[in-house]
Amino acid sequence: MSDWEASSDEDSGAAGRPPFSVAAAPLLWQPPVAPSRSHASAEDGRGRRGSEKWREAAAGSLQGEEWEPRGAGGSWGSVEVAGQWPPRAAAAAVRHARDPAAPLCLHLDSALVGALIDRGGAKIRELEESSGARIQVLKGTYEAEVKIFGSITVQNKAKMLIEDTVTRLGQNYIRGGTEKAKHLDLIKPENTLQKSVINWASIRENKARYEAMKWADLPPVEKNFYKESSRTASMSQEEVELWRKENNNIICNDLKEGEKRCIPNPVCKFEDVFEHYPDVMANIRKAGFEKPTPIQSQAWPIILQGIDLIGIAQTGTGKTLAYLMPGFIHLDSQPIPRDQRGGPGMLVLAPTRELALQVEAECSKYTYKGIKSICIYGGGDRKGQINEVTKGVDIVIATPGRLNDLQMNSFINLKSITYLVLDEADRMLDMGFEPQIMKILIDVRPDRQTVMTSATWPDGVRRLAKSYLKNPMIVYVGTLDLAAVDTVKQRVVVIPEEEKRTFTRYFIDSMKPKDKVIIFVGKKLTADDLASDFGLQGIPVQSLHGNREQCDREQALDDFKKGRVRILIATDLASRGLDVHDITHVFNFDFPRNIEEYIHRVGRTGRAGRTGEAVTLVTKNDWRVASELIDILERANQAVPNELISMAERYKQFQLKKEIERDVRRPQRRPPKEL
Ligand code: ADP
Ligand code: MG
Repeated sequence: MSDWEASSDEDSGAAGRPPFSVAAAPLLWQPPVAPSRSHASAEDGRGRRGSEKWREAAAGSLQGEEWEPRGAGGSWGSVEVAGQWPPRAAAAAVRHARDPAAPLCLHLDSALVGALIDRGGAKIRELEESSGARIQVLKGTYEAEVKIFGSITVQNKAKMLIEDTVTRLGQNYIRGGTEKAKHLDLIKPENTLQKSVINWASIRENKARYEAMKWADLPPVEKNFYKESSRTASMSQEEVELWRKENNNIICNDLKEGEKRCIPNPVCKFEDVFEHYPDVMANIRKAGFEKPTPIQSQAWPIILQGIDLIGIAQTGTGKTLAYLMPGFIHLDSQPIPRDQRGGPGMLVLAPTRELALQVEAECSKYTYKGIKSICIYGGGDRKGQINEVTKGVDIVIATPGRLNDLQMNSFINLKSITYLVLDEADRMLDMGFEPQIMKILIDVRPDRQTVMTSATWPDGVRRLAKSYLKNPMIVYVGTLDLAAVDTVKQRVVVIPEEEKRTFTRYFIDSMKPKDKVIIFVGKKLTADDLASDFGLQGIPVQSLHGNREQCDREQALDDFKKGRVRILIATDLASRGLDVHDITHVFNFDFPRNIEEYIHRVGRTGRAGRTGEAVTLVTKNDWRVASELIDILERANQAVPNELISMAERYKQFQLKKEIERDVRRPQRRPPKEL
């Protein structure tokens, strides 16, 4: 079975589902105001019944049933229709005639409105100025509602201007389309008498057309910037294989279906890949790096050819630069100048605020042709972030939650993004960010280049890759299963729960002055509790967990990084990707939720070629993971305590016993009666 097939789950891929958001539904369907008595009586007695009927039918529609529009004899009460279908500029308007203060509502195609409200709503503001009206836009997935406030004259003027504008935009969108396409309804008159409700079948039918319209008129994207050096090109197949074997057993694969492409040879030196990009070389020299890390050697030639990439490698192996450097080149080499892009060109999605900030720090360390980056994360100054984005940036590094918030409120244009990175994808899934990622990616052009990194390759990550990457190549560094960092000495101590604190104190007392330790705990409460305990005992510590204010979290990390404190007590918030070079010890006060998390925690030490030590306390409550832990220890040639082995055996016996009991309880099948 191929890598791809292992993940194949055609139906469960997020991208396979229509990008319909529940929140958008009310925009598609507007209940009319209650029918007036006089109108109802003029409806040959059908008024009230009719009203009930449309409510029932509308309810049916919202559940996905189709509801055929009714004729003018229907029960539309006091709603007055101000537009006919097809209208002059293909817009439908509904006005509450008896209430001059009521807004005039237009229902437009979302793709067209998207273009109206791009650039922070500059076009809308222009229309407001020209008409004197106030215009509000509520954008749904397929449709949007535009409300115009002001006097009737002003409303009509604004409506005319909007109609003119969207007609122009619409012509642009279907430029080059067939004659038939030109007559397709760009704007759906949901509130007209002819067509009053959601027509799901037509929405589904039009999806492809909407998509095409949405992405029409975007500038072309350039992706291939790789010039293979003669040294790289001259490597023989044997040399390449040997290099991969010697560099953490790299395995590469082309996940494109059908005919496979040639996996490029790895680059052994920085010059082999960046010799034509002196600014990149200058940055690398400034950083003082000797040679590319294995993932960089193999990822750069793939990414620079414009191929989507999945990079699976342990934490601390240089994945950030693996996607950043090609990203810089990509951004600067697009046919459209950076200042005319109308939004950021590169987006990095990262799971936690700390990781997003860390990528940002790495990004701003390397100056490349004035490329500007910004970090957008929950807990940070939202207004400031919006201001920065509006001023114009090249790279956005974001956590999915906050970015989705800015996106929904049209503060950021994602259509200009041509280079996308899903960093630490496994962690993003663990944190439940899949729905936000899905919403964000609806607005990112499909012909972008996408790079995904992950420390592990479970089914969820495979599914994500299948949904959002196109014909990618995959580079695994190290064994794919849970091989813990081999530069870390792992020690496991089996201990009763009530002795854990004393042991920890003993451990702290035995720390040398240059030692730096992260103490991992299972609960935020335990982190606070331990931190205050040690504080009272005069031991300087910091703590990091999700309940702390963002500024405290940043302070804690900074104190720890700079060595103002040498003990950080943290939940698994700190288990992935955080790059603090000189952590000498990882101390697992509580065993993590699962074995993957154990690997990540252990990976916090032994970074950048240093050695480190992990001490793990295991109590009898952790017996479920004992055998998996033994596997990890054995594979990394570490000592396995006898208590751990007997714990694993006891758990196995327990499981066996449970199974037998279940079998006994299961009703026995009676033998068939003999006739
Ligand atoms: P990952 O994302 O794989 O967990 P990072 O990208 O955070 O790892 O890199 C870990 C550290 O290694 C960073 O401090 C980074 O500056 C450093 N680094 C990156 N590339 C190299 C290299 N080629 N040589 C030495 N150090 C490097
Ligand atoms: Mg990383």
